[in-house]
Amino acid sequence: MESTPTLLPTTALEDLPFISPRELKALHASSLTTVGDLLRIVPRRYEDRRTSPPLSSLANGEYVCLQLRIYSAGWRISYKRYYELSAGEDQHPQGPRVLLRWFNMPYVAKFLAVGMLLSVYGKLRSVSGKWTICNPDFEILDDTEQAGVRLAAAAMGESAPGTLPAPQFIHTGRIVPIYRSVAGISARAMRTLVYRLLAALNPDSVWEDYDTAPSYPMACALRDLHFPADEATSHKARLRFALSECFARQFAVVWRRKQTKAHHGQITATTNYYCKELLESLPFSLTAAQLRCIEEIRTDMAQPTPMNRLLQGDVGSGKTLVALCAMLMCFESGKTAALIAPTQILAEQHYRNFCRLLRSMDIRISLRTSDRSDDSVIQLDYPDQSARQDTSPRLLIGTHTLLFPKNRPTNLGLAVIDEQHKFGVAQRERFIRSGNHPDVLVMTATPIPRTLTLTIYGDLDVSVIDELPAGRGEVTTALRNPRHMKRIISFLHAELAAGHQAYVVSPLIEKSEASDRASAIAEQLRWRELLPDATIGLLHGHMNAQEKDAVMSSFRSGDIQLLVATTVVEVGVDVPNATVMLINDADSFGLSQLHQLRGRIGRGSQKSYCILLSSVPANDPAREKLEILCNSTNGFEIAEQDLRLRGPGDVLGTAQSGLGAVQFPEWLADTRLIYRADKLASSILQQDPTLSMPAHAALRRRMQDFPDESVTS
Ligand code: ADP
Ligand code: MG
Repeated sequence: MESTPTLLPTTALEDLPFISPRELKALHASSLTTVGDLLRIVPRRYEDRRTSPPLSSLANGEYVCLQLRIYSAGWRISYKRYYELSAGEDQHPQGPRVLLRWFNMPYVAKFLAVGMLLSVYGKLRSVSGKWTICNPDFEILDDTEQAGVRLAAAAMGESAPGTLPAPQFIHTGRIVPIYRSVAGISARAMRTLVYRLLAALNPDSVWEDYDTAPSYPMACALRDLHFPADEATSHKARLRFALSECFARQFAVVWRRKQTKAHHGQITATTNYYCKELLESLPFSLTAAQLRCIEEIRTDMAQPTPMNRLLQGDVGSGKTLVALCAMLMCFESGKTAALIAPTQILAEQHYRNFCRLLRSMDIRISLRTSDRSDDSVIQLDYPDQSARQDTSPRLLIGTHTLLFPKNRPTNLGLAVIDEQHKFGVAQRERFIRSGNHPDVLVMTATPIPRTLTLTIYGDLDVSVIDELPAGRGEVTTALRNPRHMKRIISFLHAELAAGHQAYVVSPLIEKSEASDRASAIAEQLRWRELLPDATIGLLHGHMNAQEKDAVMSSFRSGDIQLLVATTVVEVGVDVPNATVMLINDADSFGLSQLHQLRGRIGRGSQKSYCILLSSVPANDPAREKLEILCNSTNGFEIAEQDLRLRGPGDVLGTAQSGLGAVQFPEWLADTRLIYRADKLASSILQQDPTLSMPAHAALRRRMQDFPDESVTS
């Protein structure tokens, strides 16, 4: 096709004569400007269009690739005008005809003529007793004999890996790549374009920062990726690209970790004066796991390098107290410690909790949150209301507001980020790299599958609270159909009568036309009728800060018995007297979200009940996740199941995990691949810590793009 293989990954698409201005515009609109951009588009899937067996053995509704000779052609009109060919197999001249119909594609008529041999691909259907394929993909096999030979060869997977198919077999007669659609470019044009670029590609061009598979050259791997000879070849090529994708991720992780360690942080040396006083005042003693984590944190904070640590523990394992101890150590050494919570409800809860726990100590505690509706700063100081400019050390509790540099205390020694999964990696990074390099402790109750820890939290040291406090009441989880409502109502009635409290959670705030899911507002009205004697509160994300706070305090104090809410209560809320969590339309929530919601109960010593209401039938896939929840209370186990059900891409969500776009999610959690990539990354940095070797120049450039002192908001 193109005579000299001169294209480089950096060659601009506009320099290529065979791309029309219209196509170019469409490509640019999708941010595809270079040869590399286009060739790096990974086929979403492949279609096996290798030739099908003879017509006589095919069935209605099958996708087939047939080689057919055109016998007649013409325009037809039924409810629409269309172009129709009647064609048949050369091997069976007296055999059945196939009608090929093209709707809305008048240009097809210009290409096709009676007598031509075609390779067509599409869905074979029997329409009024005749085989018909609508809008088939096709290629003209002008040279009859050659075509026959090639078709047979393609069917046997003749072509060696890395070789391109003969030009007439781009769309049929082979395994064909299917790309995500690019607006303005047909699937066929896209495939042709990729083919032409591959044909003209300079085989020696440099493609990557670092070649993770030198024995499998890029040019060859790209051909196998787009036009594989068989399944094994596409798998091999995809794995190769998945490794380099994984390497890029792990390299960034290893690099970040190294960078943090290179900074000079703050040394926090304490006598544990406040910690001891706190622990002595508690009505319970900490678990061994909590104490171990506190010790790990203490050791880490005493180091001259900044702490960068993850505190992982299932819901209810008591992370807050561990964090508070760390904050007290920081305070004792004369610096401010900040705790950042994902919601205002949670920030207020922490604030009250800390004020109560530390009331006998002379410690300044401040709350700083901002309402989502207006960005004004509400400041509630306790015990005194002194000026905000005051930089004397304190415990500062707030929401994401604290992430903005202007709200960040100058003498920050420790930043604790609660429920880290509700923030992003970038936000964590912001703290780690901010001004005086404070210690950073991130907490999460959303266990991620073990295989992914190295990727998501690979730059952090990890402390795990792997036991729950003793004396917790058992939690029973049950899946119920709304038909059982009568019994559920009397059950709730009994629980409230026994002095306990309950949550009713619904997926929506208000009833919406678009969905028949339960809404919190409608539920509140309903429960007022169902339980006329109970005090019922309402909590959702559209209420303002004061309203939310008022409702939460009434629930905490027991004035509200039944709290009807949305998932605003999903994380962190701690009301030990609540024993029932009723979840409406439970199937509409994710597995880890349900686990979090269930984590709101079972915090006291009484037995608790989580009721999952759902009307999905027994054979519905959504039912499986609800059953998993009924059978396990272990967050790690649930995370692994979630991974199995949804795949890593969906489990992680790209924004929260900071993964960005993942091209090969099928390998995201592949332990062997991750370890391989991680080892490779570590060995490069060990061998060349400053990345000054010429071979690592591109890697160094990319790492320098990492935001340092990133303070933009
Ligand atoms: P999470 O890890 O989910 O954030 P919290 O820190 O909110 O859990 O703790 C849950 C509840 O357990 C709180 O009421 C807390 O006071 C209590 N708690 C924490 N540690 C212990 C312990 N060692 N023994 C008994 N109760 C504890
Ligand atoms: Mg918590």
